This record gives sequence, C-alpha cells and structure tokens, in this order.
Amino acid sequence: KEDAYSERGAAFFRSSSALVANAKAIMAHTGAKRLIAVIKADAYGHGATWAATTLAKQAAVHDFAVATVVEGEEVRSALPDDSYHIILLGVQNVALAARMANQHLEPAVGSLDWLLTARDNLVDSAATLRVHLAVDTGMGRMGAKSKAELSSMYQLVMADPHFELAGVFTHFATADDANQAYYDQQKADFLSVVQALGIDQKYWHLANSGSALLHHDEIPTETIRVGSVLYGYNPAYPAYESPIKLEPVGQFVGKIWGVHQLLAGEAVSYGATYVAKEDEWVGTVPVGYADGYRRTLSGMSVLINGQRQKILGRVTMDQVVVSLPGPVPINTDVTFIGQDGAERISVEELAEYGQTIPHEILTGIGRRIPRIDV
Ligand code: PLP
Repeated sequence: KEDAYSERGAAFFRSSSALVANAKAIMAHTGAKRLIAVIKADAYGHGATWAATTLAKQAAVHDFAVATVVEGEEVRSALPDDSYHIILLGVQNVALAARMANQHLEPAVGSLDWLLTARDNLVDSAATLRVHLAVDTGMGRMGAKSKAELSSMYQLVMADPHFELAGVFTHFATADDANQAYYDQQKADFLSVVQALGIDQKYWHLANSGSALLHHDEIPTETIRVGSVLYGYNPAYPAYESPIKLEPVGQFVGKIWGVHQLLAGEAVSYGATYVAKEDEWVGTVPVGYADGYRRTLSGMSVLINGQRQKILGRVTMDQVVVSLPGPVPINTDVTFIGQDGAERISVEELAEYGQTIPHEILTGIGRRIPRIDV
C-alpha cells in the first residue's frame, strides 16, 4: 500500500476507524435510530464502496444514498445483500425505472408525471420500485410544491403495486448557515404537508449534517441523512463550531521529489507571480489542480516536518512548488490536508482559503491520487 504512495508521489489516506467513530458520534448526538449515509460522488471523494462496506460492517448502517444509477449499481455490488437500501437522491432519468427496480435502487421522485411514466416502464417488470417522495420546501431542485401535488403522488404510490413507499423527504438550503428563518420555514412547510396527509413519521427524513449537528432536537424524525459529518468535517464552519468531536477521515499528502535553490530575483511558476527576495530553498511536489489541488490554493500553507510552509507561485496542472526551511531530503512528506506533528490543516481551512466549500475540495480530489486505507 505504501508503494502506491511512493509510485505516485501523492496519496489520500483514509481512516475507517474515523468514519465509524463519526457515524456513531452523530447518531449519539441526535438520538436518531436510523442513519442514511450519503456516499454520493464516491463518498465525497473517499471511495463509495469502501465507505459502504465499512459502515455496513462496523457501524451497522443499513441505508445509503448516492446520486446516480451507476453509483447505485457500484454500491449494490459491494454490499452483502439486497436488504441494504440504496437511495438515489436527485432527479433521475425515468427511462431507467425498471433497471432501478431490478437493482433494488430507490429513486427520489419529484413529480406525479415521473411516477406515471415510470409505471408504464415497469409494466413488464416483476420487481417493485421503492420510492422516496421529494417535497420542495425551498431548495428549488425537485419535489412536490403543494399538499395537493404530494397527495396525488402519495395516493398513486400507495395504490399501485408497481410502487412501494420507502420515504418522504425534503432538503434544507440553509441548515448550516445563520439564516435560521429560512430553515424554520422549510421545516414547518414539510411538517405541515406530511402531517396533513397522515404520512407516517417513520418515512420522513430531513436532517443533513448542518441540521443534525445544530438543530437535531427540533426535528421529529428517527432518521438522519448525512454526508459531511461522516467524513469528519463541519459544513457550518466558520459560522458555527461543531458541538461534537469529528475525526477527519482523509489526509491528502504528497512527496517532495525535487529540491533546488532559488536565487534572489528568480521567479516561480506561470505568470512569474512569486519572486524570491533572497536566496531560498524550495521543493517540487507532483500534485496540481488536475489532482484537485485547486488553482485558487496558490499561496496556501502546507505542512512539512510539522511546520507550516507555503505554496509558492501558481498551482500548475501537475506540480506545485513549496517553500522549504533548507535542503530537505527527497521524498519528504508534504501535507495538504491533515495533521503533521502539532500542526493541522483542515479541509475546512483549505476550502475557506480557496473560496469554496469542503465538499468541493474532497469530491475534486482526482483519480490519479491513490486512496490508501490506514
Ligand atoms: N441530502 C441530500 C438530498 C443531499 O443532496 C445531500 C448532499 O448534498 C445530503 C443529504 C447530505 O448533505 P451533508 O453532506 O451536508 O450532510
């Protein structure tokens, strides 16, 4: 395993014990009975089949959520049997309804039209399609917008043998920011429609990570549907501290493969934006924006031998140049995300510096970077 790191000069180390600890911590914090582990986009870059099998075996998680049919099929083939639920979040291509039913994938459904077309596509299928009815309370992506619309979807699912109700859900737009009024309105709108239709509470799932961390006691549901907290980061950073300890699951590291000296006045990288004020030692690391270390991270800190150093000049496609305290040995580790000695660079810090969110950093870590279990 260490070989893949040496060969590539970079790796994303992932900790199954951290993943399991985070799942248990958020369950304890919320008092939830059921956890839908959101493992779409390859488990936010950590590896979907790895996350699914780890959580199934070590945290007794039985419910997973991905975004696409292809992701769902990949996770299905890794899980021990069809009793594990796999939800397809987001709008789905209705032409694939029979394929979803055969693979026991459970799509989110946003309209009556979708159900009517799916029913036609399921005529020759023996399998039942379990569905999660989406209620649009303010995300504006998908879902019933009124009680009447949800009612028509619900009636059809309950009456038609091709379908089985698996869930009814909504998604919060502002759970992790200070806009509490918008969040409260979404929650109230959801509760008012599902209660008016008499849909049993066991079907509801609303809480994403922000909601589970910060507002868990306000939502009457047994089920949480979370991604970020599982991977050990707080989506509400920097507005709110996490009320529970989260263990970062992934560490993104690279190796110094070249060491050289810049003389005063010499520049680094495209645009020659960094110019050495005096003679200095620098290292070159085989990681660039094609690996997900974004160009907006030019100037960001990295950790070398437990100390903060800097990315000098612009991040290029496959390489970055870092400042060094002196001529360190070839193969010295450079931590982009993670702990080194007493210092840590969190994905939250990285995302804030790069003017994005941790989800985008982690899902963007490229395929050239080997995922290595620790
Ligand atoms: N539910 C839905 C519908 C989502 O799209 C997502 C993530 O984008 C989540 C839950 C999980 O969100 P988080 O990672 O903030 O927990």
